[in-house]
Amino acid sequence: MEISEIIIAGDTPGLEWRLPVFRFTGTRPEAPRTYIQAALHANELPGTALLHFLVERLRQAESEGAILGDITVVPQANPMGTAQSHFGELQGRFDLGTRTNFNRDFPLIRLGERAGLTEDFERHSAIDRLKRHLLHMALGCDLVLDLHCDDEGLQYAYIDEAFWPEAADLAAALDMRAVFLSDGESSAFEEAVAYAWKHESGGEKKVLLPGRLSATVELRGTRDVYPDLARKDAEGLYRFLAGRGGVAANDDPLPTFGGVVAPLDNIEMIRAPAAGAILFHRDPGERVKAGDLLATILARPGIPDGAVEVRAPQGGLIVTRVSTRFARRRSDLMKIACAEPSRALRRPGTLEA
Ligand SMILES: [Zn+2]
Repeated sequence: MEISEIIIAGDTPGLEWRLPVFRFTGTRPEAPRTYIQAALHANELPGTALLHFLVERLRQAESEGAILGDITVVPQANPMGTAQSHFGELQGRFDLGTRTNFNRDFPLIRLGERAGLTEDFERHSAIDRLKRHLLHMALGCDLVLDLHCDDEGLQYAYIDEAFWPEAADLAAALDMRAVFLSDGESSAFEEAVAYAWKHESGGEKKVLLPGRLSATVELRGTRDVYPDLARKDAEGLYRFLAGRGGVAANDDPLPTFGGVVAPLDNIEMIRAPAAGAILFHRDPGERVKAGDLLATILARPGIPDGAVEVRAPQGGLIVTRVSTRFARRRSDLMKIACAEPSRALRRPGTLEA
C-alpha cells in the first residue's frame, strides 16, 4: 500500500489542504481498477468508517497477493468541508464561501479530456481544485463509488440507468433495501464520472456502460456510524470487488438483490404542508399504503384543529426521513420509493439541492 497526499493551496495566505490517498497496486493489468471515496459531504461519516476497515482488509489481501486490479481509496475526501464549523456545528454539505453543494458543479468533460483536469490550476479556487483532483483519480478507474449517507435512512444507492441491472451486485453486497435509478442529469460527482464515460469518444453518447460502475451509495443515516455496521459494509464491499474481479476471494457467490428498484420519478418527496413541530408516525423501512398517516405537523400547537396531517400519496417503502423535528413550510420530510411515478413535478437531476 502506498500512502500519498494531494496538497491543495488555500485561497488565502498561510493555508493549504492535505488529502491522504491510499493506493494498492494490482497484479493483473486486465482486472478492473477501483476508486472509492467517502465524506465528500464532510458530515457524512459512515463511509469513512467503512473505508477504515476496508483498507485494513485490503492490506491483508495485499499480503496474500489477492489485489488483482489497482485500488485507490480516499477515506475523507473533503478537508475543506471538514474544517467548516459554524456555531459549533460541522457544516459539511455546502461550501460556506460560495453556498455551493460540495457534491455539485463537478466539471462535465469527455474521458479524453481527463489530463486537462489538473492543468492550469491557477485559474481555479481551492474547492474547484479539490473537485478536479477527485474526478481525475476516478476517471482513471472502471469502478467508482462515492460513499454518502442520508439524514435517517435505509441502505440505498443512486445508480444511473446506464449501469443497471449489472450493478445489482453492489446492491446485494451492501444489503441495500432500495436502488434509485438516476437520470444522469446533474453535476454530482457520480454523474460527472458517468458523463465522461458516456461521451468517451466524442461520437454517439453511450447509453449502457458494461463493466463500469459509478454510484452514490447512501450508507443509512448520519448517526449510523458504528464499528459493527462499518465492518459488515467493508466486508460487503470486499465481496463486491471480488465478484467484479478486482480482488481474489473464495467466498460464496453474492445473494440476489431483492430490494426495491425505483426511477427518480417514482420517489415521493413528502413535503411539509405547514411549519411546525413534526410528529412522525412511520419509520424508514416501513411499507405504507396510499392514505396512510405519515406525520402530524403541529402548525398551531394548543389550538383545536391546529395539527395538520401528512398522508402517503401512494403506497411504497419509506426509505428516508429527516432528523430534524421542526418543519418549515414545503421542507422535505420523507422519501418513499413507489411503484408509480409521483404526480408532483420533478426537475431533471438530483432530488435534493
Ligand atoms: Zn451526501
